[in-house]
Amino acid sequence: MMSRIVGIDLGTTNSLVAYVDERTGLPVVIPDGEGRRLLPSIVGFTPDGIVVGEAARRQLARRPADTVYSVKRLMGRGWEDLKDELRYFPFKVLAGEGVVKLAVGGREVTPPEVSAIVLRALKERAEAHFGEPIEQAVVTVPAYFNDSQRQATKDAGRIAGLDVVRIVNEPTAASLAYGLHRLGQGVIAVYDLGGGTFDVSILRVKDGIFEVLATNGDTHLGGDDFDRVLMLWLLEDIQARHHAQLDRDCIDLARDNEFMQELRLAAEAAKIRLSTEERTTLTLPLAGFTYHRVITRAEIERLLEPLVARTLGPCRKALADAGLTPAEIDQVVLVGGSTRVPLVRKRVQELFAKTPHSQLNPDEVVALGAAVQAQILAGGIKDMLLLDVTPLSLGIETLGGIVSVLIPRNTTIPTSAREMYTTSVDGQTVVDMHVVQGERELVKDNRSLARFELRGIDPMPAGMPKIEVTFLIDANGILQVQAREQRTGKAASIEVKPTYGLTDADVERMVEDSFTYAEADVETRLLIETRNEADTVLTHVGRALRQAGPLLEAGERQTIERAVAALREAREGKDRDAIRERTTDLNHATEHLAEVMMDAALKGALGTRRANEIMTSKAEAPPSSGDRR
Ligand code: ADP
Ligand code: MG
Repeated sequence: MMSRIVGIDLGTTNSLVAYVDERTGLPVVIPDGEGRRLLPSIVGFTPDGIVVGEAARRQLARRPADTVYSVKRLMGRGWEDLKDELRYFPFKVLAGEGVVKLAVGGREVTPPEVSAIVLRALKERAEAHFGEPIEQAVVTVPAYFNDSQRQATKDAGRIAGLDVVRIVNEPTAASLAYGLHRLGQGVIAVYDLGGGTFDVSILRVKDGIFEVLATNGDTHLGGDDFDRVLMLWLLEDIQARHHAQLDRDCIDLARDNEFMQELRLAAEAAKIRLSTEERTTLTLPLAGFTYHRVITRAEIERLLEPLVARTLGPCRKALADAGLTPAEIDQVVLVGGSTRVPLVRKRVQELFAKTPHSQLNPDEVVALGAAVQAQILAGGIKDMLLLDVTPLSLGIETLGGIVSVLIPRNTTIPTSAREMYTTSVDGQTVVDMHVVQGERELVKDNRSLARFELRGIDPMPAGMPKIEVTFLIDANGILQVQAREQRTGKAASIEVKPTYGLTDADVERMVEDSFTYAEADVETRLLIETRNEADTVLTHVGRALRQAGPLLEAGERQTIERAVAALREAREGKDRDAIRERTTDLNHATEHLAEVMMDAALKGALGTRRANEIMTSKAEAPPSSGDRR
């Protein structure tokens, strides 16, 4: 039996759980006992216990300090990068160790613990629906989430008793929900306007692989802002129309938290009705009288227009980053409850000059896509893949301790790469393969993943064996490395999990270091490569002199030996130009020797042309340093 995996959209405002119905093959949202599909991502800490969802939302006004909302904004983040944002939170945020903590309901909790409460509610919802325990989930995160935010999301799952089998980017999930049969291949723009955040992502879909080309957005723009402008407009209207009563009773509505909360909920409800109706009536009971107000679509659109306009800049920036014009976007997908607002749809349609997809409920589409991905992982859907990327570059050690990268970081997996290498010592029968991970030029600054030996190579002059190295990463991130000597067919291989034991902080540091040390690293690499090239020429000249030396005149022999000595000396220094000049000198000095050489193979291994090839062609680069014996 297949183990069941559900898909979860852990949203800033609302969260949902979905699965793929096996009879229809379609993803569906799992409702709670009362038929509600969205679970507000709000957790209330009360003296009687913890409440989540709608119940927590209801206590928001009464217990602002003990009711946590928008905890997604805090996930995996430290005090320093949150300082500017803290004014948005009525509950207490503390600087923890590395990541922040919350002081609510008389205790301290971490953001993943709060998210875990939301996840547990969804888990229970699914368990009630299926009548069996649910232990695995695919959870979505914004495309721009960094490693520590993703890790925090996984931690939340673990705390809730859910194994997060895959983290999927929200725009990718939304595209998956629409499916390739609807979207086809090409470039997709995903416009996601939720409760408190706006994200736009440009994706490329090719051969079932989704690649995020660019993301942009505004972390403080969404439906909450729509509610706020409407609320302030209504407040002014109430004060203007009822100032006599209000003044008489000394009521300052703006300072009445409970009233403001009522007003906010009424404003949101009116906003939602106006997405489908041309006009609506808002009714609000106040002390001693009732406020009635008819609001029209045109009125709310005038209020929302500047906010909607603010989403267009990030869309243009994302397009520019992806190097695309609006006309090059093949499909537009609408995500987030706020894209139900007709004005939003209109502006998006104008910008991209095409009708956006909105057949699926925009506030459900991410969860539906997560369910599709869950079904793929459970083995139920075989014709669509959804892929991760490699967090760090992968390669092998070559002569002199230099890394030769086969798979660069951020490559979408599964992937494979192939390169040709050769030996650097005559008669070498064993090649030491060292698999490394990281962004630095030198092996010693990177992470060592695995070592193995390719043995049984026929003894040949250096540079003759053709060693093909293949890297293959499967969809689960398992790396298989194979080395094969083409003449003898001798092969050896190894399997490793590159992310095993690697924390997100490690990844971040390794990438950062590569920027910090880039210049020095490149300098060192060039020096080593120049020395390697000198060594290759020295080896070949030495061999040629032994074999054909007696055929030369004494004078020519001396010239060559002087050039050899000069190169040996330069090679010990750090002056790259000097080494290169002496190498060229030696090549000139041996031009005649090369002609004299009878053996075609040896002749091929000598002379300027050959040396250049060794420098520029991977196929002739020596492999690992461990082979110098
Ligand atoms: P998030 O992704 O931030 O968790 P959602 O995608 O669920 O949030 O969007 C929530 C927002 O969508 C809220 O601001 C809500 O008021 C708004 N919303 C939901 N339905 C509608 C509607 N029919 N018209 C306008 N706004 C809506
Ligand atoms: Mg969302």
